[in-house]
Amino acid sequence: MTVAVIGGGIAGIMAALSLADRGTSVTLIEEKETPGGHMVEIADCVSGFEPKLIEAEANPLIEIITGTTIEKVDGVAGNFTITLSNGSTINASSIILATGYEPFDPSIWSRYHLENPNVYTSLEFERVISLSSPTGGKLPDNINKIGFIQCIGSREPDVNPLCSSVCCMYTANEVKTLLARNPDVEVYVFYMDLRVAGRDAKTIEKLKAEGVNYIRTRIPEVITDNGNICVQYENVKEGKLERLDLDAVVLAVGLLPSKSTQKISELTGVELDEDGYIKVSDGVKTSVDGIYAAGCVSTPLRISDSVIQAEAAATLAAEDLSPQAKSIPEIEISGDPVIGAVILTDGLAEYLDLERLKAGIKDLAASLEEAATLQELESKIGSLVTAGSNRIIVAGLSHRKHEEMVRDMAERAGLNRYLVEIANIREHAAWVHPRDEATTKSIDLIRMAAAKLKRLSPIEVARLPVTQKALVIGGGIAGMRASLEIASNGIGVYLVEREDKLGGGAPDEAVSDLIGQVESNTLIEVMTSTEIDQIDGFVGNFTARVGDSTLEFGAIVIATGASPFDPAGRYGHGSDSKVITQAELDPGIDAKAVAMIQCDSSMVASIEMVANALEIRKNNPQTEVFVLCEDVKTYGIYEKLYRDARASGVIFLRYEPDNPPVYEDGIVSVFDTMLGDEVQIKPDLVVLGGGVDPAPVSDRLKIAFNFRLKLDDAGYIFTLSNQPEVSLYPLDTVIDGIYVCGNAKRPVTPEEALRDAIGAAGRALRVLKSTSIQGKGEIAKVSQTACIACETCVDLCPYKAVRMVYDRAEIISGLCRGCGVCASECPAKAIQVGCFSDDEILAQLEEVLGVVS
Ligand SMILES: Cc1cc2nc3c(=O)[nH]c(=O)nc-3n(C[C@H](O)[C@H](O)[C@H](O)COP(=O)(O)OP(=O)(O)OC[C@H]3O[C@@H](n4cnc5c(N)ncnc54)[C@H](O)[C@@H]3O)c2cc1C
Ligand code: SF4
Ligand code: SF4
Repeated sequence: MTVAVIGGGIAGIMAALSLADRGTSVTLIEEKETPGGHMVEIADCVSGFEPKLIEAEANPLIEIITGTTIEKVDGVAGNFTITLSNGSTINASSIILATGYEPFDPSIWSRYHLENPNVYTSLEFERVISLSSPTGGKLPDNINKIGFIQCIGSREPDVNPLCSSVCCMYTANEVKTLLARNPDVEVYVFYMDLRVAGRDAKTIEKLKAEGVNYIRTRIPEVITDNGNICVQYENVKEGKLERLDLDAVVLAVGLLPSKSTQKISELTGVELDEDGYIKVSDGVKTSVDGIYAAGCVSTPLRISDSVIQAEAAATLAAEDLSPQAKSIPEIEISGDPVIGAVILTDGLAEYLDLERLKAGIKDLAASLEEAATLQELESKIGSLVTAGSNRIIVAGLSHRKHEEMVRDMAERAGLNRYLVEIANIREHAAWVHPRDEATTKSIDLIRMAAAKLKRLSPIEVARLPVTQKALVIGGGIAGMRASLEIASNGIGVYLVEREDKLGGGAPDEAVSDLIGQVESNTLIEVMTSTEIDQIDGFVGNFTARVGDSTLEFGAIVIATGASPFDPAGRYGHGSDSKVITQAELDPGIDAKAVAMIQCDSSMVASIEMVANALEIRKNNPQTEVFVLCEDVKTYGIYEKLYRDARASGVIFLRYEPDNPPVYEDGIVSVFDTMLGDEVQIKPDLVVLGGGVDPAPVSDRLKIAFNFRLKLDDAGYIFTLSNQPEVSLYPLDTVIDGIYVCGNAKRPVTPEEALRDAIGAAGRALRVLKSTSIQGKGEIAKVSQTACIACETCVDLCPYKAVRMVYDRAEIISGLCRGCGVCASECPAKAIQVGCFSDDEILAQLEEVLGVVS
């Protein structure tokens, strides 16, 4: 029995990989001829995603059927029969719907003049600024002044009343990429509200500081005049209508439900919401048992959230399936090294003399191949190994981005994964030197790779035993949901909560059911009034000191949340009884006028404020409610709250960050940027809103984790999605085996926290479901005979991966990251790092520099 995944965008692919990783077989159905969805159209995300696509296509547990969709679904959870448009049927235990979104098509409105070649949709523009565009991301010479218009096809009652959640963020990314490749272009961004927080808000601040003109206005049309483009908007500060000539315009199109969602609903019986998206609970469960939703099929989402939902859907779909073994036999390496080389030519021809390059390396490799795509690379590696190559050079990829992918390809071909070497003739040569020098350097880089490969031997990697128990830190809704998910897979959980009861900051009525389920679950050991003093160990083998006892477990889910908003005396809070926080507000209040002031850029706090404002008006329509903020951040479906609040009579006033409201002598004064005038309110109550504060919670955790856990600038736990490229691991911390969910990661709504929790539990289960996990090959090894027990390595290892045993240094393989610090400092030269031994590195140097002593 398989799990059927419908849709091959990032959500579908990541769900399939997650299932296959647990040993579950997957059939992925994609309507188009190639999988990838919209990711392949997004300029700088595609390169991070491509290795995953290749991995999915090559995974023996994943069958991808393209050019096909579903025509009929029968059966129930555990036993669905799906008829495909190609006439075949598949039996599936569960179904994951990942059919994504449809970008809004602005050509339905003639007023934006999409027929003008210099009016682009944002997706078209992604291609223009992509490094792999014919111009390498450079604009044509005649485009020097460009305008981005946000909310096209979003927040428009006639076509799409929702906010599309991602376009404020992606517009900022597009502007950033555009300027990196075209620094002299003058940029305008026209927006209604900036619905971003955290890192994205910082990006926009930086763009503004660098001269990008962000103008708050709705642009209703693009005016074209003899081929020229201009827009008109109201300059509120100066009280006049402005006309701005532009060379090009980018329409930031919104996200709509995919065209097939309605049909899928009819075929499967899953309910849709009133906007045409698939209705979900816990962020991922549809109304039909055994059918789950992943990605933009249930609401507009950014990439990292699509991936979290995919992980959560896979976690639920994988339950109760017995894992199937996957193993590819490794070929025996004997005799002399036989080197096969593949040059990935894509994007290199114009920067390198490929004929000279090939002539320069022809003596190095027994076989030399070219590949234009990663798919072709995979098959060329396979055929080289079949034909007898036992070492492989891949020229034309980057170590940082592609090393693991290339090692996986070698492994799938049956070769030990450490017998492959990348020569980065792209970033290290072709893209940074003139053609001639780049060609010469590329030859040198490939020669160096060959010299190293000749000395490499297969590395046998030990498996590390796993303690099949989890530690969940934090007993709020996320921690409880994660614990239940892990326990439902038969794995025991220590659930540690520092307060004297479970529930976290949520109201009792919202958590009583979850608490009941957790407390009655025999696999979950609840430890309230408990804090972890110290955590040691590594993935599969952690220990925690709690008072006098020691807990042992194989993976950790951090769900410690964050502290509630602290107004810190602002606007007289604490001394003036009329000033309270949103948490202190009773929306049933009977007052003449209430002024709400948003004190920071938090999205979740903005939603809470709008919801409370609406609630007050519903309870007491005679109460005047004013909401004062920089931006109303009711993203996605929460836009409805904003619409309803305005319809109910709530008055929204927007101020600039450098001119916030003032509260004096019972009067709130604010300069409203929409009216272009000062407004004064005499409220009975001033209600302050703001985001949660992670610092008090995460600072303590940092100590417990001996400072190995990384925090971001704001104090949230740093996840691998904070990396600049595509966010494929949004629930993983920098330490293997430790995952994070809910507010500890970034402020989230309760529904998002539940989805995160299932996803984080899923990540932990991938470790916990096996009795052992694969270790790493590129780690240090100490020669017991050469070690002089000076303990230099013990002192210097940044990961605390060396200990002394019987007067000799010993590497704790689960902790070693192969950084090489110990090897480079050991006075007795007793330490070597896998794939980077002295012999291998010296061979590389000798190849280009001659004899090295
Ligand atoms: C211009 C633009 C820029 C963006 N930039 C960013 C960014 O920088 N960062 C970010 O986080 N997010 C960004 N996003 C959002 C990002 O595109 C989405 O988060 C992500 O692509 C969602 O992936 P998905 O798999 O849910 O959907 P999709 O990518 O839409 O994939 C769905 C797949 O399902 C297939 N399918 C549909 N119906 C069927 C059917 N009936 N049967 C079989 N297959 C079917 C489709 O062909 C498609 O391959 C951007 C969006 C846009 C429009
Ligand atoms: S406000 Fe919403 S719909 Fe408008 S651009 Fe921003 S994210 Fe998109
Ligand atoms: S290679 Fe780095 S992580 Fe590994 S033991 Fe040496 S210093 Fe520590």
